[in-house]
Amino acid sequence: MSRFRLTVVLSQAQGKHPERRALEEAIVTGLLGDPRFEVSVIPHVYDLEADHPARLFLTSVRGDLVVLAWLYPRATFWVLDRDGVRGHWGQTRLRSADENHAEHSATEDKTASENNGAQEGQNGRAAQMRPPPPERFIYCLDLRTADNAEPFLAEIHRIYEEAAARAAKRAQAEAPLLELGLRRHLPADRAGIESDAASKRFTPDELLRPPARRWYPVIDYSRCTNCLECLNFCLFGVYSVTADGLIYVNQQDECRKGCPACSRVCPEHAIMFPEYKSPAIAGASFGGIESLKVDLTKLFGGADALRIAAAERDRELIAAGRQAVGMTVGIPKRQAHKPNAPKDDLDQLLDQLDAADL
Ligand code: SF4
Ligand code: SF4
Repeated sequence: MSRFRLTVVLSQAQGKHPERRALEEAIVTGLLGDPRFEVSVIPHVYDLEADHPARLFLTSVRGDLVVLAWLYPRATFWVLDRDGVRGHWGQTRLRSADENHAEHSATEDKTASENNGAQEGQNGRAAQMRPPPPERFIYCLDLRTADNAEPFLAEIHRIYEEAAARAAKRAQAEAPLLELGLRRHLPADRAGIESDAASKRFTPDELLRPPARRWYPVIDYSRCTNCLECLNFCLFGVYSVTADGLIYVNQQDECRKGCPACSRVCPEHAIMFPEYKSPAIAGASFGGIESLKVDLTKLFGGADALRIAAAERDRELIAAGRQAVGMTVGIPKRQAHKPNAPKDDLDQLLDQLDAADL
């Protein structure tokens, strides 16, 4: 019998939602007691501060990981990445709320995987500047996809089979080295791992310590080209660059709550605000959004994006007791030559999305 164990983490909804709690409990109940799974429940993953036990726990998981959260999978994946929980994108068969609008097909699977980060490390300049992720897979499931536990449990069981087969293959390849006592010759992220499950233990109470709600941008490095336009635009010191010149979100909690301005400025639509009401900005997969037959660029404000972003930034500057700067600071030149779209264009597109109840 296989000793492989798969780590499954359920990230709870913010606040008290009886229906959401009921779904969370049904999923956990369906997995508890099954020796194949190491199940943990944590608060909303987006809210975890650096020293939160749940975040320390997540960074201690070395093998494949399934994370269920009330967020778009792409947002969950890159929130985890920012927290140091890195891996390859695990393709799932559960379609997120927006993705249900698209018919399931092999072509769409490819589109979704490319847009969700499966091409991570191959697209933009930023990805190439980063160290490659460890050889493990992170599967993110959106808890809004279904209102009962069965589809989630079925998908977790399918992922288990996939992950166990991969682990068995790896063990076969590593066996000769281990027999010779050459564990140290394994890749750094494999050496010393006795189990594919989590290595650090916390009590349920520690894991569930309630965090304060947070609001900050999350970068999808599979799309980012490191153009630094977000750094130039933000006047609140949220962004910074590493010693190698790579953009990153440094002062997360300096971001102004509710404001998504820089996501509209990013030319690659690489900036997400996972709690924002518009699916495109909240991290919906672009494959699903495209199925609505709307121009993705328009979902961020279209030709008006910079004007909208500047107005949102001004509002926050004034709220912080500072001077509004309008379009005079940090506005990229690239769209200056483009004519402005009619002012109601964005409104119509957002209405279309609202009507779709995404
Ligand atoms: S604006 Fe977008 S593409 Fe440019 S550095 Fe920022 S996140 Fe990356
Ligand atoms: S939303 Fe505003 S404050 Fe927050 S990072 Fe973007 S530009 Fe800066």
